[in-house]
Amino acid sequence: MPRMGFRVGVLALQGAVARHADAVRLAGAEPVLVRRPQELAEVDALILPGGESTAMTKLLGVSELAEPLAERLGAGMPAFGSCAGLILLAAGLEPPDGRTRNYGAIDIIARRNAFGRQVDSFEEELDVPELGPEPARAVFIRAPWVVRAGPGVRTLATVAADGAAEPRIVAAKQGNILVTAFHPELTTDIRWHSLFLSMARSSSRC
Ligand code: GLN
Repeated sequence: MPRMGFRVGVLALQGAVARHADAVRLAGAEPVLVRRPQELAEVDALILPGGESTAMTKLLGVSELAEPLAERLGAGMPAFGSCAGLILLAAGLEPPDGRTRNYGAIDIIARRNAFGRQVDSFEEELDVPELGPEPARAVFIRAPWVVRAGPGVRTLATVAADGAAEPRIVAAKQGNILVTAFHPELTTDIRWHSLFLSMARSSSRC
C-alpha cells in the first residue's frame, strides 16, 4: 500500500474531479485538489481528469497553471491523464488542433473525439494484463484514441474500432506517465489508480 502522506493532486479546473479524488483515497494516498500554482507545487504527482481539453487549456492559462505544469512535467512529476487529460499529456494531435495544449509528457499522438459522433459514449470490458486477469470496465465519453505511440511507450489496452484494421490504443504508459482514453474513476475499479500510485511512488524514490 502506498504510504499515507503521498500527495496526489487532482487538477480541479473542470471535469470529473471528485471521483478521481475518491479513487486516490481508496487506493491509499491523499488527494489534493489543484486549482492554483501553490497547490501544484505541493503535490508529489498529478491526475489530469477528463472534461474538455480546449476548456482545460484555457482554464490552465487563466489560473496561471500552464507554465508551472509544463515545468513540473518537464522535471519528471508523475502524471495520470484520463480522456481530456490524455490529450493534454500527449505530444501532439492528429489532426492538429490549435486550441489544445499538448504538454508532451508521453510520446503519443492522439486524436480527439476519435470514435465519432454516432458512438459518443460506450462502455467496454478491456483485457489489461498489467492489471491482472479480471477485465477492466471502461467508460468512454467522446474519447480520444492514440494514433501513434513512440518506442518507449507501453500499450496497456486496445479497442477494436469500427472500420479500423488495427485495434486502437486506449491506455498506455511511459516512465511515470499513465494515460487512459476512458474514465476509470467512473467505475468502482481502483486498479488504474493503484497502478498509477505504484508508478508514481517508485519513480519518486529514485
Ligand atoms: N472530447 C473531449 C476533448 O476533446 C474529451 C472528453 C472527455 O474527457 N470525456 O477534450
